[in-house]
Amino acid sequence: MKVYLDYAATTPLDPKVLEAMKPYFNKKFGNSMSLHSWGLEAKQALEESRETVAKFINANPEEIIFTGSATESINSVIKGIAFANKDKGKHIITSSIEHHAVLESCKWLENQGFEVTYLPVDKYGFVDLEKLKAAIRADTILVSIMHANNEIGTIEPIEEIGKICKEKGTLFHTDAVQSFGKIPIDIKNIDLLSLSAHKFYGPKGVGATFIRRKVKIDPLLHGGGHEFGLRSSTENIAGIVGLAEAVKLRSKEMKAEAKKLTKLRDYLIKNVLKTENSHLNGHPIKRLPNNANFWFAFIEGEALIVQLDSYGIAASTGSACSSSTLEPSHVLKAIGLKHEEAHGSLRISLGKYTTKAEIAYTIKVLPKVVENLRKLSPFKGKWK
Ligand code: PLP
Repeated sequence: MKVYLDYAATTPLDPKVLEAMKPYFNKKFGNSMSLHSWGLEAKQALEESRETVAKFINANPEEIIFTGSATESINSVIKGIAFANKDKGKHIITSSIEHHAVLESCKWLENQGFEVTYLPVDKYGFVDLEKLKAAIRADTILVSIMHANNEIGTIEPIEEIGKICKEKGTLFHTDAVQSFGKIPIDIKNIDLLSLSAHKFYGPKGVGATFIRRKVKIDPLLHGGGHEFGLRSSTENIAGIVGLAEAVKLRSKEMKAEAKKLTKLRDYLIKNVLKTENSHLNGHPIKRLPNNANFWFAFIEGEALIVQLDSYGIAASTGSACSSSTLEPSHVLKAIGLKHEEAHGSLRISLGKYTTKAEIAYTIKVLPKVVENLRKLSPFKGKWK
């Protein structure tokens, strides 16, 4: 049996998305900036896609900027806001559990003379609103807190965070890569938002940024003035059409899917926790419908992934981007796990094609694999 349970890393393209994209690779291949009919055809597809994305989050079309990824969107927001608003202040606030795209952009800005506050989180991964309030200063120009964490699935209280930022007069950005199209998002108190198509059955290499009207931001890419001058580059029309088609499908599928996945997730969690010395990372309920994250004492997450793979099951030790490094996940460390506990972690992320039979199979295989690895573990003596 082949079971893909790594939907948080990436998702397969929905066949309907592929069909929508196809004509834009060869038949409708125009450059949206050209004035002839090929160009106008591309421009129309671009603007219709912008409207689709805007409608999904109740934004205006001109507030949507297409990018090459969420990493690009996040870099553009953090650096673009910093440089456009540096006369007002040079202080930025984020959390210690953000994706590397946020953390590395902030680190880079620190080298450019900006100051960054990294808010701690509690054992579930929640940002403390009182600590946020206390951290906002007169020179704070941006708060960037993710909507849902990519490793432990914790959903941050972004409505309250946005409200606090509004009251204090600072801009609020949220990395909604993991939540977009999975749970509802209210942008009322959000100024900037990043998303990525490949996390919700769209193509890889295309993302988008919501930038509220009148927000002062510098572009990261300078050139021909595409995307309202905020992201020069000939637009990837096929990718953008794919992103928009994936968004359309989300509006039809999201609600029922969340219900189904929550049930499957809870069935998985309940059964996996029957394994001796196993623990859940993140909050039992306030987590993404498709996310489960565990740590198993006395074993290595990497070994677990390899063993599960031999049974046809694809899972992850943390974020795909950091799983090639030996450092334990910064997210698991931030919620208080010890080095060796973080190393024994496993992320299982479900998606729209996940079936009960696949979860039942995983529940059967996982304890066996854990038990086998523990037999080989150097900690074995301490455990029994
Ligand atoms: N932010 C979060 C929370 C993510 O999970 C990811 C991808 O893993 C990214 C940002 C980066 O997205 P992209 O692959 O589009 O650059």
